[in-house]
Amino acid sequence: MGERPETADGNAADRWRQCVILVGGRGTRLGALTEAVPKPLLPVGGKPFLEYLVFEARRHGFTHIILLAGYRGEALTAAAENLARRYPELKIDVVIEPEPLGTGGAVRFARDKLAPEFLLMNGDSLFDINLLDLATRPVAGPWSARIALKPGQDPARYGAVDVSGDRITLFREKHPSSDPATINGGVYWIKREAIDDIPAGTASIERDVFPRLAAAGALRGFAYDRFMLDIGLPESLATGNDLIPQRTTRAAVFFDRDGVLNVDRGYVHKSDQFEWIDGAVSAIKAVNDAGRFAFVVTNQAGVAYGYYDERQVHALHEWINDQLRHSGAHIDAFMYCPHHPEATRPAYRMACACRKPNPGMLTTLMSDWPILRDRSFLIGDRDTDLKAAAAASISGHLFAGGSLQSVVERLLVP
Ligand SMILES: [Mg+2]
Repeated sequence: MGERPETADGNAADRWRQCVILVGGRGTRLGALTEAVPKPLLPVGGKPFLEYLVFEARRHGFTHIILLAGYRGEALTAAAENLARRYPELKIDVVIEPEPLGTGGAVRFARDKLAPEFLLMNGDSLFDINLLDLATRPVAGPWSARIALKPGQDPARYGAVDVSGDRITLFREKHPSSDPATINGGVYWIKREAIDDIPAGTASIERDVFPRLAAAGALRGFAYDRFMLDIGLPESLATGNDLIPQRTTRAAVFFDRDGVLNVDRGYVHKSDQFEWIDGAVSAIKAVNDAGRFAFVVTNQAGVAYGYYDERQVHALHEWINDQLRHSGAHIDAFMYCPHHPEATRPAYRMACACRKPNPGMLTTLMSDWPILRDRSFLIGDRDTDLKAAAAASISGHLFAGGSLQSVVERLLVP
């Protein structure tokens, strides 16, 4: 367990790691607003819009961000340097096209940097979906690209699609119609080989690539009834100023680890000791799909006793997220307490604020992440878990066994 197959393109896990963002557009519809500042860097709710997209990609486990820039490319390079300082674990590349190449041309220009499969998104819109669901949804037959779709919209400013099951049979860019339609949400999961067919010069993904893939039966689409907003017009930018910070502040589900996500065998610290609780992966995915944060808060006194070290705790948590990714799920952050008042390793001997029943891990997450406390809750298998929840002023639920999925789905109902 824990071993991953190697491919010619490196580690297979990289498949889930690359997020490419189209940030090269001129943003002409915003007039003077984009004279000095490129559209993806316009302030929304007090920070550059691009930061919301990078935050979303990062929490879904994407660690390699590629910005496809053009207009005001130097401003995007500076923004990337800022983001890399804030998130040292991210690798951020900026590829600046030599001349306006269109969405397809920009992606083709970055061909050498692309992973075999990658997430692609428009840099001027936010579609609040579970990004890993788009990547992993099982489909029958071959496919080259997947599009996140938003039903019931005005198609005039977007691409409208006809679908049969998960197959997009027709893709029409900026289709004028008065009827609500299912539209292109601007978030894609793409196989690199689909890029190889783009001819040299200026090309549009929406006009040149998607219609052709649809005709070939290689374009898939999944509908998401989730918040979506693009900031391409002055009025939508103004709406976004209020709505985007609001919609990206989320209720959270805090999971205890041992005895809730995995069978508690006592001091689990290696992947071959880790056995998922029935329904745990689906439970985490249900939290992701509902647009809530999923956190783990776990006491790991085994570190204090010298049974294992913090490096092993981190490695196990990385492994857990690698496992989850294949099922379209992820944990946004893991918090653990390595301390104990009777530790054998002196560095960890303390009565700390983070060891449950104290609420330190919960309160740290609440100050570091945009969390809506009201509807947040914790699931634990011990009284100390519930006490930590109470001390953090959120509700706590005792998991007494059975399917974690059915417990979580019951609790997620508003
Ligand atoms: Mg437990």
